[in-house]
Amino acid sequence: MLTNSLVELDRRHLVHPVSSFRGHEARGVRILKSAKGATVTDAEGRQLIDGFAGLWCVNAGYGQESVIEAAAEQMRRLPYATGYFDLGSEAPIRLAAELAERSPGDLNHIYFTLGGSDAVDSTIRFVRYYWHAKGQPQRDQFISVEQGYHGSTTMGAGLTALPGFHDGFGVPYAWQHKISSHYLYRNPLGDDPKTVIDASVAELRAKVAAIGEDRVAAFYVEPIQGSGGVLVPPKGWIKAMRDVCKELGILFIADEVITGFGRTGPIFASAEEGIVPDFMTCAKGLTSGYVPMGAVFMADHVYDTIADGAGAKAVGHGFTYSAHPVSAAVALEVLRLYEGGLFDNGIKAGARLMAGLESLRDHPLVGDVRGRGLLAAVELVTDKDKKTPLPAEVQPATRLLDRAWDQGLIVRSFAQGVFGYAPPLCCTDSEIDAIVERTRTVLDLTL
Ligand code: PLP
Repeated sequence: MLTNSLVELDRRHLVHPVSSFRGHEARGVRILKSAKGATVTDAEGRQLIDGFAGLWCVNAGYGQESVIEAAAEQMRRLPYATGYFDLGSEAPIRLAAELAERSPGDLNHIYFTLGGSDAVDSTIRFVRYYWHAKGQPQRDQFISVEQGYHGSTTMGAGLTALPGFHDGFGVPYAWQHKISSHYLYRNPLGDDPKTVIDASVAELRAKVAAIGEDRVAAFYVEPIQGSGGVLVPPKGWIKAMRDVCKELGILFIADEVITGFGRTGPIFASAEEGIVPDFMTCAKGLTSGYVPMGAVFMADHVYDTIADGAGAKAVGHGFTYSAHPVSAAVALEVLRLYEGGLFDNGIKAGARLMAGLESLRDHPLVGDVRGRGLLAAVELVTDKDKKTPLPAEVQPATRLLDRAWDQGLIVRSFAQGVFGYAPPLCCTDSEIDAIVERTRTVLDLTL
């Protein structure tokens, strides 16, 4: 009864992110009530394994008492402190220092945001400021990668290269350019790493030349493209792109909003790729989704350029909730849990998940299995040789997700019939095995 009235209130008043307003009104909301570890319970008491960690964010798993206690303790002592006017508080300062110690190279300066989209948006602002400070304000053109996702603020949505985030909004803007994705499974050049890397390098160079070498401000990449369908670049692709940017004097931004905090194994995927970006963005796993927080990491030379450029003037960028002490206290505790065993468990669980999903390759609907660590995808096709995507009437996200839900599994479905996985790092062997088994059942039911 209570559930019915909530569904009705939701239908009338709550606007959901990234959903078909009318479709949602017709289907109604599924209400989650509680969660522990990797299991969530819905309003009807049904238990499901959260194979997507909320929205690839609850890396530490649900119900971590020490995290809850850290938030409560910070709220009791000091629930809010601004960073404006030279003020501050202990938790964000400690967190910035801890993160700087663990970040690749000299990414020593950290600006806290509320999530990933405003972290990306902040980098756009800081990049512009950087080039003004360098005396090159004409460098105002940005390049990102097709299939990429960089959030949905007005400016960041234009770096995002998924049509669903552009249609009807009038983005991208003329200053936002794209190069092709590596997307190995569907790359017209095939999946030979060297061929794909060489082609991307050539395309980036050509794009910069076409825009004008002295006009390009920055290049954005995800170490693994998440919302585009978990597209893993060939080893060396990121490094090659980083090298081109360095050579051409273009700032390189690694968007680690998904890949940060153990999702692929190490704390940051950039380190694994052997690169040091000029900027790095994080969110999600930073607080494991318990409270909102994102971060922009700046390399020493970026910070110094902006600082020197501003001189005694304030750098006019900031939010009321930048460096929120409760979020920072949560992030510090989450980091302690990660390093106290969750990162190790995540590596073990990731290997098991990848092996389990690989075992699905024999299924007639499975065209591709890809991923790294606890970030994975299975791409479904009706013809393996021709790589024919599932027909439109079978693949709508809701259909596949409903079927998974009925099996007690939450996953995400992307365009082209791709199942995405990002379970919490705390998953046990039996939970990982259940994710794989339930996926097989869903595929059998979809045949
Ligand atoms: N960047 C990447 C790579 C993401 O995957 C996301 C969200 O999924 C964002 C940015 C935006 O983050 P948020 O949803 O926290 O605003």
